[in-house]
Amino acid sequence: MRPRKRFGQHFLHDQGVLQGMADAIRLKTGDRVLEIGPGQGALTDYLYANEGMHYLAVEIDRDLAPLLPKRYPNINVINQDILRVDLNEVFSGGAVVDGPPWRVVGNLPYNISSPLIIKLIDHVLVAPGTIGDMHFMLQKEMASRLSAIPGTKAWGRLSVMIQVTARVDYLFDVGPESFTPPPKVDSSVIRITPIANAHLPVARQNLDQVLRMAFSARRKRLSNALKNLAINWQEVDVDSGLRADDVTVEQFIQLAQWAAANPVKI
Ligand code: SAM
Repeated sequence: MRPRKRFGQHFLHDQGVLQGMADAIRLKTGDRVLEIGPGQGALTDYLYANEGMHYLAVEIDRDLAPLLPKRYPNINVINQDILRVDLNEVFSGGAVVDGPPWRVVGNLPYNISSPLIIKLIDHVLVAPGTIGDMHFMLQKEMASRLSAIPGTKAWGRLSVMIQVTARVDYLFDVGPESFTPPPKVDSSVIRITPIANAHLPVARQNLDQVLRMAFSARRKRLSNALKNLAINWQEVDVDSGLRADDVTVEQFIQLAQWAAANPVKI
C-alpha cells in the first residue's frame, strides 16, 4: 500500500527501534492501551501481548483501520481522526469501564503532534487520573521543546504548557532510515507522565496570554515584553530584567496569576 503523505505515514521497520520502544513502554497484562495511528501495526506487533489487555487504536486511514482486528481480534480500532474524537467517550467506553489509567502510545503523524499533545494534556486537566503515561515517537525538534529546561533555546510556550501538568522524559533518538519512507527530519521517543492530581493554578487563557507575549519578544526583558499587562513588579517574585528564555514554569504561573487578578482596563 502506498504511504499517504497527507496522513504523515512513515512506517517503522527498524526492529531495534521497535523493541526499544516496547522496552521503554513495558506494557503488562491488564493494561488499558490507546494506540494513536497504528498504521500497518508495526508497533502494535511489539506491544500487544495477550487477551488480558484492553487495546484500543484510533486510525484515520480507512484502508489501514481494518488490518489490525484481522490480526488481533481483541483489538478495537476506531476509524477516525484522533483530533476529532471525544476523549471522554474513548476513555470511558469499551469493555473495561473501570480500570487502571490508560497508557497512550504512538508513532505520531508529525503534522498533528502539537495539537494532539495539547488535546491530551487538556484532557489530563479535566479528567485527572485517566491517563497514566504517554509514549510517543515525535519529530526530534518537538521532543526537545517538550522536554526543554529554562535557559535553553528549546524552552518555549509548549514546554511550559506541558510541564505545568506533566513530567517529560527524553528517551532516545531515531534516524530517518528507520522508517519507510524516510522522513526529512530526525525523530525521538519521549515519555510524558501526568503529575498526579494535576491542575492549572490559573485560568488557561491568562497563562496563554503571558506566554504568548513573553515568547514572541523573547529577546526583550519581561518589563518590556509584558508592558501591556502593567505588572507591578514589587508584587511578584520575578525579576523584571529576565528574558522569557530564563523564566521557570512557577514564575510564569505567578505572572499569569497576577495578570488574572489585575486585568488591564482599556
Ligand atoms: N504506527 C505505525 C508505524 O509505526 O509504522 C504508523 C505510524 S505513521 C508515522 C502515523 C499513522 O497515523 C499512520 O498510520 C496514519 O494513517 C495515522 N494518522 C495520521 N493522522 C491521523 C489522525 N488525525 N488520527 C488518527 N490517525 C492518524
